[in-house]
Amino acid sequence: MQKALEQLKKIDAEITALEGAQAVLEWDQQVYMPERGVHARSEQTAGLAAIVHQKNTDPVIGDLLDKLGVSDENPLGSADLEDDDRRLVREIHRDFQRATRLPADLVSKIARVTSIAQSVWAEARRKSQFSLFQPHLEEIVKLSLEVAERLGYEAHPYDALVDQYEPEMTTAEIARVFRELREALVPLVRDIAAARQIDNSVLLKAFPVDRQEAFSRATLEALQFDMSRGRLDRSVHPFTTSLGPDDVRLTTRYDEHFFPTALFGTIHEAGHGLYELGFSRRFRGTRLASGASLGIHESMSRFWENVVGRSRAFWHHFYPVMKAEFPDQLSGVDLESFYRAINRVEPSLIRVEADEVTYSLHIILRFELERMLIGGELRVADLPHAWREQSQDLLGIVPDSDANGVLQDIHWSGGAIGYFPTYALGNVYGLQFTSRMRTDIPAMDNLLRQGDLVPVKAWLDEHIHSVGRSRTPGELCEEVTGEPMSAQPFIDYLTRKYTDIYDL
Ligand code: ZN
Repeated sequence: MQKALEQLKKIDAEITALEGAQAVLEWDQQVYMPERGVHARSEQTAGLAAIVHQKNTDPVIGDLLDKLGVSDENPLGSADLEDDDRRLVREIHRDFQRATRLPADLVSKIARVTSIAQSVWAEARRKSQFSLFQPHLEEIVKLSLEVAERLGYEAHPYDALVDQYEPEMTTAEIARVFRELREALVPLVRDIAAARQIDNSVLLKAFPVDRQEAFSRATLEALQFDMSRGRLDRSVHPFTTSLGPDDVRLTTRYDEHFFPTALFGTIHEAGHGLYELGFSRRFRGTRLASGASLGIHESMSRFWENVVGRSRAFWHHFYPVMKAEFPDQLSGVDLESFYRAINRVEPSLIRVEADEVTYSLHIILRFELERMLIGGELRVADLPHAWREQSQDLLGIVPDSDANGVLQDIHWSGGAIGYFPTYALGNVYGLQFTSRMRTDIPAMDNLLRQGDLVPVKAWLDEHIHSVGRSRTPGELCEEVTGEPMSAQPFIDYLTRKYTDIYDL
C-alpha cells in the first residue's frame, strides 16, 4: 500500500508541476503577450492541456486508488493511511472521476463549441443582439446537460454542474440560502433607495494612474502580501494565479477617473493571493495546495475588499495616509464623507460594477435562470424576457438593452454554467468566518483602527488558508464556525452597516 501511495503522489506532483506551467502561459497571454502571439500560444496551451488531460485520466490512477481502498462509498480510502494522505486520495479520486466520466470526444466538442461561442458572444454584445448568440447558447445548454448526465447527480442535473466549482454543494442548498438572502436584501435595497443618496463625487476626481499604482502597492504591503513571493501587474480583466507555491501573480486595472476600480480591485485580488500563499507547507507540490472551492476563494477576496477594505475602522488609519498621497483630490473631504462615498449603494444593471448590497442579487438572478434552463423549465429563446422579469423583481430596474442585460457576462459563452453561485456563496461564507474571527479576536476593530492587520491575517492563515483543499467547503465551514452554511451573518452585517450609513 505504501508503494501505491508513493506512486500516486509522484503522479500528483507531475500534474501539479504541469499545471504551474499552464499558469505561466496563461498569465503571460493576459499580461505581456503581443497580439499576434495568440496563434502559436493557442497551439502551446492546447498541447499542454492534452498532456495534462492524459495524465489526469491515466488508468494507473484508478488502479492505485483501488489498492488504497478508495471508492465512491469510501472516498477517504484505507483507515491505515495518515489523515493528510486520506484527504489527498479523496481529492485525486474526485478529479479522476470527473476527468474519466467525460469522454474525450465530448470534451473536445465543448472546446470547439465554446471557442466559437465566445467570439459570437462578443459580437452579439457589441451589437446588443441576443438572437446572434442564441443558437450557440442552446448548444452549450445541451452539452451542459450531457456533462451533468455523465458526471451523475441525485436530485437535479444542476447539482453536477455546481459540483465542478463548489464540491458537494447542491442546488437545494443554494436555493435555501439564496431565498434567505433575497427576502432580506430586496427590502433593504428598497429602504436604501428611499433614503437620501450619498454624494460620491470625490471618487470621480482625477487620480493620476502612476500614483494610484504606488498607493495600490503600499496597500498590498499593509495587507502583508509578500512581494518576494508575488507580483502585481496590469490586465484588462483582473485576476490572480499561482505559478508555484512561492510565485503568486495578481493583476489589476486603473481608471484615472474612478480610483475605487484599482484600489478595491487590488485589495480583492490580494485576498485571493494571500490564500494562495498561505497553504500549509505540508501540502507543497500536491493538489491539496489549492483553494477548497471557488466559493471559499471568493470569501477570502471579499473579506479583504469589503469587510476590511470598506470598513470605517480600516480607513480610520489609512485615510490620513491616502490624504497625504492625494492632498488636492481629497481636500475638504473628511473621513466620514469618504467612508460613506465608498459604500454608496445603488441598484445598477452591470454585475461587475455592483456594490456590496446589490451584488448578491445579481447572482441570485443568474442562479434562478441557470437552474430553470438546466431543469428544462426555461427555453434559451425566452432568456432575455426572463432576465428582465428577474431584474425587475430583484433590483427594481430593467435593462435598456441585451448588452446591459443577458449578454453582459462572458461565463455562459465559455460553457461555465453553475459557476455564478460561487460569487455570492463567497459573501455568505466570508461573514460566517468573520463572526467566528470576531469571537477569537474581540479587539479586531481596534486593531484595524491602528492599522494593525497582522492578527487578522494570522487568523486566516491558521483557520482557512493553511487548510487548502484538505477539507470540502462544507467541512471547512462546519470546522471553523460550528455551523452549516447560513446567510444570517451576512444579512446581519449588511443590515447593521447600511442602517447606520443611510440612517434607516
Ligand atoms: Zn474574486
